[in-house]
Amino acid sequence: MRVGGASDAGRVRKQNEDAFWFDERLLIVADGMGGHAAGDVAANLALNAARAAIAAESPGTGSREEVVRRAIAAANLEVYQRASGDPRLYGMGTTLTLAWIVEGRAVVGHVGDSRAYHATRERLLQLTADHSVVAELVRSGGLRESEAQFHPYRNLLTRAIGTAPHVEADVTSVDLGPGEALLLCTDGLTAVLDDAEIHRTLVEERDPQACALRLVEMANARGGPDNITAVVAVMEGR
Ligand code: MN
Repeated sequence: MRVGGASDAGRVRKQNEDAFWFDERLLIVADGMGGHAAGDVAANLALNAARAAIAAESPGTGSREEVVRRAIAAANLEVYQRASGDPRLYGMGTTLTLAWIVEGRAVVGHVGDSRAYHATRERLLQLTADHSVVAELVRSGGLRESEAQFHPYRNLLTRAIGTAPHVEADVTSVDLGPGEALLLCTDGLTAVLDDAEIHRTLVEERDPQACALRLVEMANARGGPDNITAVVAVMEGR
């Protein structure tokens, strides 16, 4: 497994409240929200809590899906408690999307609208369903996909880390074949690049670090309206 990651504030916002982390087994992105840098605090607290929870697990104990669920629950509790105990941080929250890769299988968990994608040479599959008002309207048939991109509520989340004592994560798993790629990214990327562009970039640029940088550059070239983060993993072989 080769991995890389990049993040940028974009062309409009002064601060970058996205956070990311990766090693050979774990990829994480978080998109924080809350005034006065609280978003940055929330994103990093969640990321570090999830990392610590995964690191404390030995792969033999319990199902891997449960491990990911517990890591996200731990991140949620950490952010919620800090937000409740400090008036300057009150109301902060974050998205959290992580992929734990064990023996060629990625266990992906998320809360919010930061996405995970699986790319083979032939196709790009979105592994996460956005927890946003607009995405849920599209899924229920109340809104067309074409209307969603410019909808005034497109940034409104239905689930977030840290805004309530408990949150339900969605968890799914996918096998990664040789040469296949995994992308985790925040909405600053997916708001301005479509699936075809993302897929083409993942197929063409086989170095994960160069690929993450190129995706961030592409989003900036489209105006970079939001913070942009991409973390890429490529399975060895072929
Ligand atoms: Mn964002």
